[in-house]
Amino acid sequence: MKIGVYPGSFDPVTLGHLDIITRGAKIVDKLIVGVLNNNSKTPMFTVEQRIEMLEKVTAHLPNVEIAPFAGLLVDFMKKNNATLVIRGLRAVSDFEYELQLAQTNKSLDKDIETIFLVTNVKYSFVSSTLVKEISHYKGDISQFVPPEVLEYIEKIKIE
Ligand code: ADP
Repeated sequence: MKIGVYPGSFDPVTLGHLDIITRGAKIVDKLIVGVLNNNSKTPMFTVEQRIEMLEKVTAHLPNVEIAPFAGLLVDFMKKNNATLVIRGLRAVSDFEYELQLAQTNKSLDKDIETIFLVTNVKYSFVSSTLVKEISHYKGDISQFVPPEVLEYIEKIKIE
């Protein structure tokens, strides 16, 4: 059984992420979306909220699981018997960082392979950072996030 991990912050999950999850789930038997609990970044949403949003938008994908992780990706992979890292590539600007990350993970664990899925052009400019910025200024984010996420964000704003 081939187990893949798609790691990221998903703060919040966007249509670009969902596209990578949907396509990634077709490549592996099981895809674990690893939600990074990173102390050095101050997220807009808690890990629990990010997981809840991811669970809502992937409910129709039976071989996708959502799990939090902290620490090294290679340790998380080992714990879950996963051997494939899936990442998305939007533009050349992503490439340098992604290459460095993949090479670092490879040097930490030679059994791990990283594969890159090229973004759907429709979402090539979509990022969580921009979604947060637009949302902060009360702009319309409906074309960047799945409807479940839009609903969720509206709900927690009211509460
Ligand atoms: P990180 O904090 O590690 O950058 P993100 O949640 O921003 O995590 O992104 C996780 C992964 O998803 C990265 O590989 C990133 O390149 C990819 N990604 C983000 N947005 C998109 C998009 N619009 N299309 C394709 N891939 C994307």
